[in-house]
Amino acid sequence: MAANRAYLDHNASAPLVAEARAAMVAALDAANPSSVHSEGRTARRLIEDARRDVASLVNARPEHVVFTSSATEAASTLLSPDWQMGRGSVRMSHLYVCEADHPCVLGGGRFPAAQVTRIGVDRNGIADLEALTRALAAHDKANGLPLVAIHAANNETGVIQPIGRIAEVVKEAGGVLVVDAVQAAGRIPIDMSAGYADYLILSSHKIGGPKGVGAIVAAADLMMPKPLITGGGQEKGHRAGTENLAGIAGFGAAARAVLAGLDEIEAVARRRDEIEAIVREIAPDAEIFGAAAPRLANTTFFAIPGIKAETAQIAFDLAGVALSAGSACSSGKVGPSHVLKAMGRGDSLGALRVSIGRATRAEEIAAFRAALAGIAARRAGKEKAA
Ligand code: PLP
Repeated sequence: MAANRAYLDHNASAPLVAEARAAMVAALDAANPSSVHSEGRTARRLIEDARRDVASLVNARPEHVVFTSSATEAASTLLSPDWQMGRGSVRMSHLYVCEADHPCVLGGGRFPAAQVTRIGVDRNGIADLEALTRALAAHDKANGLPLVAIHAANNETGVIQPIGRIAEVVKEAGGVLVVDAVQAAGRIPIDMSAGYADYLILSSHKIGGPKGVGAIVAAADLMMPKPLITGGGQEKGHRAGTENLAGIAGFGAAARAVLAGLDEIEAVARRRDEIEAIVREIAPDAEIFGAAAPRLANTTFFAIPGIKAETAQIAFDLAGVALSAGSACSSGKVGPSHVLKAMGRGDSLGALRVSIGRATRAEEIAAFRAALAGIAARRAGKEKAA
């Protein structure tokens, strides 16, 4: 990232950490990791080291990690009606997702739309556990098991779902739980050995690794979805295609770095609180979404009456500050936030998301303050003229 810019959009993509860059460069001219010769075995070692590091981030077993091209591919693989257990088949007859999930989960993966139920959230963005419990109680297991997928932490608001309680509800119903931990991994501790979820979805570029790498992490080797990509037997047959070696090596290095930095979360929270204090000082009528719920330490999502988020985002950009408006997560398109809508707040002029990391500097926050002050002054000028 350019040194003269303030990059406050870590939830879109966290800056590449030095460790990941070095690991990628070192892996760039590695051989095919499936080759049996010495060069191939060296390449294989790079993948297995990364597998161990990604597993450690969520306290899982390395053999339960399957590398994919993205979290989106991991979700598309896991959200499938067809699973296999050894040589036998297992059927998931219905998928339950959350209204505030990322589109890669909300889309329902390989389930037909009629077999997908969306569970709502409250005004703070927390999933409606009673609705989930009721839906699972009504699930007819004669046709197959219920599959539940939900995000651990929201990419827009940073709101953290009560995964422990959700896991209990799903277990009670005899279902299978997939947790999209893309925004949570490396920002809150996740312990797969303690029954956190049956399957996790991870993405490298949200933790300081390269883009275009993700992972499925299973809690056990009981069963897996039928593969989405078939061909050679890579990733034990769960995901064919020669592995993205440099990407995987970078993912592993980023996982190691972010795990080592987990104890700096308090400092990140103080920085985020500083940003929210600035918002409240400059715009006392601002609303911070999800503030009453447990949230990631690095995220704040707010709306200021009279300020259109998309316009403000451009003004911030011109002032050297990169942040997001709404859920600008796909191909540059900015639409009304489905997360805010799910929270019953779809009527606002959109919201701005500031998301930071351990490396966020005081000057970046100062740049944010100056830019917001300018935008608020222009709003005041307009109101006066009206
Ligand atoms: N899940 C969440 C919560 C996300 O925020 C994102 C990306 O923004 C994804 C999934 C998709 O990740 P990827 O870019 O690796 O496909």
